[in-house]
Order: sequence, then C-alpha cells, then structure tokens
Amino acid sequence: MFFDHKADSLPLLLSSVQVENGAATATEPQTETATQPQLQRQPLQPFVVGVDLGGTQTRAAIVRGDEIVARTSRPTPAHDGPAAVIAGIVAAIHATLEMSEIAMQDIRGIGLGAPGPTNSRTGVVYDTPNMAGWKDVPLRDELAKAFPSLPVYIGHDASVAALAEFRYGAGRNVRDMIYMTVSTGIGGGIIAGDIIVEGAIGTAGEIGHVIIDLRPDAPRCGSGHIGCIEALASGTALARDANALAAAGHAQGILAVHRELIAQEEHGELRTAEVDAIEGEHIRARDVVEAAHRDDPEASALLHTAAVNIGIACVGLIHTLNPEMIVVGGGVAHAAGDLLFAPLRETLKTRAFTRPAEVVQIVPSQLGNDVGLIGAAAFVEYRQHTESSQRGPTTA
Ligand SMILES: [Zn+2]
Repeated sequence: MFFDHKADSLPLLLSSVQVENGAATATEPQTETATQPQLQRQPLQPFVVGVDLGGTQTRAAIVRGDEIVARTSRPTPAHDGPAAVIAGIVAAIHATLEMSEIAMQDIRGIGLGAPGPTNSRTGVVYDTPNMAGWKDVPLRDELAKAFPSLPVYIGHDASVAALAEFRYGAGRNVRDMIYMTVSTGIGGGIIAGDIIVEGAIGTAGEIGHVIIDLRPDAPRCGSGHIGCIEALASGTALARDANALAAAGHAQGILAVHRELIAQEEHGELRTAEVDAIEGEHIRARDVVEAAHRDDPEASALLHTAAVNIGIACVGLIHTLNPEMIVVGGGVAHAAGDLLFAPLRETLKTRAFTRPAEVVQIVPSQLGNDVGLIGAAAFVEYRQHTESSQRGPTTA
C-alpha cells in the first residue's frame, strides 16, 4: 500500500462507495484498520478537491459527485519551474476552500490531473511538455506537505477525464471505454472492465503519441515523437499545416475567416485558454474548423485528413481493446462536430474488423470544460476504492 498515511479512510469507503468492480475487492482481506471501531463511526466526507493543472490555467474546485460547488482559476506560472507551479496549486486550493466555506473535515481528499506522463500510483510527474523544468517531480508528496490532513492523488489528466466521462458522462452505462481528447494536443484514457488501465509505471493511455506515420520526415509532436497522432491530427497540427499553406500563398479562405474571427474576438468575445494556447500570430485551429464549417475546400481537406488519422488511431484501439465506446472530447472535436465524427466513423467501416467496429459507439464527450475537474475529484474516490487491491510496481 503506498498511501499508508490515508489508510484510515479506506475501510469506510469500501463499505460505502458503489462497488463497480467485484474483482477489485473480492479476494482481498480486510486491512488492519478495518477493525478499529472509532474509524467506523466517522461519516464519509461528501466533498473532494479536484485540481485541473494545465499549461496555461490552474483550476481548482470543490466537487460533490459531478457537482461543482466552488471553483477558482489562476494562470499557471509554467515558465517559472515546479516550485512556483506547486505554490500556485496550493494557493488555488486554499482560495477554493475559503470560498466554499466547507470545513476541512468534510473534505475526503485532493485529486489532481497532471498534464504529462505521470506515475499515477506514486504521484510523481515524469515530464510535462508545456511546463518548464518538470522532471520526476514528486507532486503528490509536495502537496501532502501543504495539506497534511488530506490524502492526495495524482493522475494523468486524460485518464481522470476518462474516469469522469465513465462515471458521470457519455460512458456511464458501459464497462469498456476509451476517452480521447482532441485539442491543442491529443490525449487519452483507457478504462477496461471498469478499471483505469495504468500500466507498469502508471503512464498508459498516451493514445496521442502512438506513431502512425512512418516517413522519416513526418511531423514531430511537442514531446519529440516523429509521426505520432498528435503530430498529425491535433489542433496544433491543423494550425501548423494551415500556416504552411498560407506561407506558400494558399489558404486565402482560411486567412479570411481568421481575420474575421479575430475582429469579432477583439470586440469582447470570451476567449478560452485552450484557444490562446493554440494560436500564434497566425491561423489557429479554430479558424481552420470554422472555415471547414463554411465549406472552404482547403480547411475541409485539412480537417478531413486529421479525422482520418484519428480514425486510424481508433482502429488500433478497437483491434487492441475491443471497446464498447470511444468518447471523443476536447476543444477541436467539440468545434468540429460531424466534420470530425463522420470521416472518423467512415474510417472504422473501411479499415477495422467488422464486428468490433460495429459494436463500438463513437460519441462526443458530455462533461465539457469541467471534465478535468470532475475527473480529478472522481479519481480520489476511485483510488481510495481500488488501492487496497492493486498491487504492482510502486517505484518511480
Ligand atoms: Zn507524440
């Protein structure tokens, strides 16, 4: 058990949370603390702190189930190193707790979704492509120092988002589900038989970094892989390809849409952090998607190619895991809608085994921008529920 200091809450959870997976608890003996009567009398705390750590925004919320009862957001000092980012997380949590006026003893724990390969069992963040200086940062232990009375759990952001869709969103009636987010990057989380697939050191689910383009001069993603799905089909890839067309004197239709949208936004329209992260001084992914909605041929071709590449990724997942559902979320997928989903589904029809392709439902996510917060909070309960029976490598 790697959460020894939190073991006291475990027996209570085992007796009260919904058991989604009999195999997770069936053969395990009760822990020693289960026999301590004073612990049995404690009521289960109803609230959880969820933190969505992004390269641009640090968001914290007090969550009950899928309901957000208080929230704060602050810019992530991504260029200032881990200590500054961690201080920002701590401040965001304190601010949210104060705003909610919920007592510390009513909080069950802190869950956080980290934006990069992370050991979801030890809470060590290995690497973050969008934040400087993060190498093997023991984020769980650092946060535990700041909140000694609360258990802290760190998951990969896309895996906890998958958990949110699985518990409360599109996947709440299935057992085998894959979540894919298509935004600045492409992330993923895999749930097989009600269990998050975490792998040997907790980094499983990096669907976006599966390599599908074998050309040596294929595009490279922010993590350095050549020809991975993120390098081919993410919002960053759409913007890059559109700007390359524009630099060669093409994409005039996309440029016109870009100028129109910029003019609108400068008149006060709210801009999301995600969009700001995608844009440079040139064409952004949202411009390409909007131009495709207006039937601009170059934008349509770019988006179609991205959708086929995402479809190829789904073929690999279907062949490997035979999922019941693939939930596709993220800003680009949300904005593109059927322009992404239709070619994606068509790719499955022509490229995958018939039976598993017929079975799988390809659906949009349901939880919107809060999926990361709700998932981070849900990860606390998930981990407290499953940690007694999980065994495996505990080292970073
Ligand atoms: Zn990659």
